[in-house]
Amino acid sequence: MELKGLKIIVIGAGIGGLTAALALRRQGASVTVLEQAEAISEVGAGLQITPNGVAVLQALGLADDLAWCSQRARAVVLRGHRRGTEVLRLDLDEYAAGLRYYFVHRSDLIGILAGAARREGVQVRLLQKAERVEPGPQPVVHLGNGAQCGGDLVVGADGLHSKARVALNGERNPAFTGQVAWRATVPNHLNLPPEAQVFMGPGRHLVAYPLRDGSLMNLVAVQERRAWAEEGWNFKDDPANLRAAFAGFGGSAAALLEAVEEVLLWGLFRHPVAASWHGENTAILGDAAHPTLPFMAQGANLALEDAWVLARSLQESAGVKAGLALYQSRRRDRAEKVVQAASSNAWKYHLRAPLSWPAHQVLKLGGRFAPDRMVSQFDWIYRHDVTA
Ligand SMILES: Cc1cc2nc3c(=O)[nH]c(=O)nc-3n(C[C@H](O)[C@H](O)[C@H](O)COP(=O)(O)OP(=O)(O)OC[C@H]3O[C@@H](n4cnc5c(N)ncnc54)[C@H](O)[C@@H]3O)c2cc1C
Repeated sequence: MELKGLKIIVIGAGIGGLTAALALRRQGASVTVLEQAEAISEVGAGLQITPNGVAVLQALGLADDLAWCSQRARAVVLRGHRRGTEVLRLDLDEYAAGLRYYFVHRSDLIGILAGAARREGVQVRLLQKAERVEPGPQPVVHLGNGAQCGGDLVVGADGLHSKARVALNGERNPAFTGQVAWRATVPNHLNLPPEAQVFMGPGRHLVAYPLRDGSLMNLVAVQERRAWAEEGWNFKDDPANLRAAFAGFGGSAAALLEAVEEVLLWGLFRHPVAASWHGENTAILGDAAHPTLPFMAQGANLALEDAWVLARSLQESAGVKAGLALYQSRRRDRAEKVVQAASSNAWKYHLRAPLSWPAHQVLKLGGRFAPDRMVSQFDWIYRHDVTA
């Protein structure tokens, strides 16, 4: 289908929304992005953009921009929590010959996408408070101030608490996983290399990797606990609570935790993947369609994949409705599989004695005798190229 002349409204200038806007604009559509935040960049911290996500940015001509502002990941290293002793090293240089894997600040990636979209002619509109969007099942967006804005297609890329998902699927209550995550950035005083360090302790783990020019470290610390915490990325907590939860973590983990001055706490919830990703002239993508736990670092990568496939499916179909059906058929099973893999991954890092010691020995042996197999188990995620 010729997208030229098609009027498309995208709700949400996050990673999925901006990527979709750019990909659809490149096919000739006239695209407006509506964003509720006052500025589009500042929320979030580090993201791991794995080769499957890089493939989309590459196809959009943005891989060099990404490389310029991020750290190319060299390895993922699993460590014991007390002294930080190495348990398993997954060497990405060897695995990923020709494939690229990056650590990037979310606001830098948003900046790249927003800049490219605007240069291409996408209108990005930051809404006033009174204009809060209420997406419905029709391709008309009702703004809170009574105004409406219509299009041939509305794409809900409105994230975790998507109203577009509710409009298509009804309300479904997510389930608290019994896990919370703290997120912080600290200076890289230890000069740690471009590797994702995963410190595994009983009932908790800490992930740390460098960002930007390497001078900043991104920390994500996950703890199993009964006490509920709000689901969202902007709830502040006292760094002392983080340090108390991770008391006993030694090696570089201790120094990283000590350096935390500001921290956000986030409750981890399990959401079902949306049953329906589209209506006649509406579609959802990214977290709006399949909120994902962070244990495979795939939320943003899936959003990038969705955005590309949505634009391509529309282009390859006879009409909008057929294009949206093709989009869902191409994406839903994959998203479901990745979401499930992420859901079942956390416990592996959280083993308690007496299980943790033998499990770590198995990982060590695997790393020594079958290092390729340890990494290639993720081929189905990383080597999936939706642009091929
Ligand atoms: C701690 C943590 C670590 C993570 N690490 C990784 C990682 O390493 N790798 C990875 O791939 N993913 C990671 N993720 C997940 C990733 O950040 C998300 O999956 C990804 O940002 C989803 O993109 P999106 O475009 O769907 O939503 P978002 O990027 O959240 O964008 C949604 C946008 O919609 C806007 N919006 C919402 N409602 C409205 C409305 N009504 N009107 C207008 N605008 C609206 C929001 O303001 C926002 O800008 C992580 C997430 C967290 C919390």
